[in-house]
Amino acid sequence: MKKLFIILLIVIATVLVVGTVYLFPRSPYWPQERIVIALPFSQDQPPKSIIPMGETVDHPNAPLGHPGIDFQWDYPAAVLASADGTVETIKSTKDDNGITNWAVEVRNGKYKLSYVELESYEQSLKKGAKVKTGDKIGIAYKPFPDKEHRNLHWELGYSFAIGEPLCPLTYFNSESKKRIEDLWNRLGPAYRDYKAFPDLCSGGFKNRDQ
Ligand SMILES: [Zn+2]
Repeated sequence: MKKLFIILLIVIATVLVVGTVYLFPRSPYWPQERIVIALPFSQDQPPKSIIPMGETVDHPNAPLGHPGIDFQWDYPAAVLASADGTVETIKSTKDDNGITNWAVEVRNGKYKLSYVELESYEQSLKKGAKVKTGDKIGIAYKPFPDKEHRNLHWELGYSFAIGEPLCPLTYFNSESKKRIEDLWNRLGPAYRDYKAFPDLCSGGFKNRDQ
């Protein structure tokens, strides 16, 4: 009887381990290569300003500060997919001015890219739709009705339930890595809190890339 119990335990443990590793793409142990991502905007629409990850001045309630990178423009810039994947959720939020903005989450195995604060999203996107790198996701959102200021909140994270957003810097393809470094070298020092947050991934997000 005891032997049978032990065999049963071994079978359950094996199923759990094999299941976690090979059956559930949301598992931390899912055998997937590190995702390679691109910046979520085209080369000819560079942002005018950037709010780094880990910023705690405007995001004092988030445990590690700003949990993504914000890209800002003064025109309705197109937001592009940073990686291939499948649309998981499309959610709307109403801001204090009663203006609706949208968040689109796209999953690629154990990774997830979140495009948050969109004025609108492509109508071809719905839950389960396939997305390719560079496909248009939507248009950056305009938080102030009287100002042509646009903001995209963008995050790379894991698709499994636990796991903070990741510092995306080591995930970029070489072209995007060069572009974001050039942008931050140029725009970072103009950012009002640059002294406190000199890195694109600051504070708790510095080097948090896995
Ligand atoms: Zn943000």
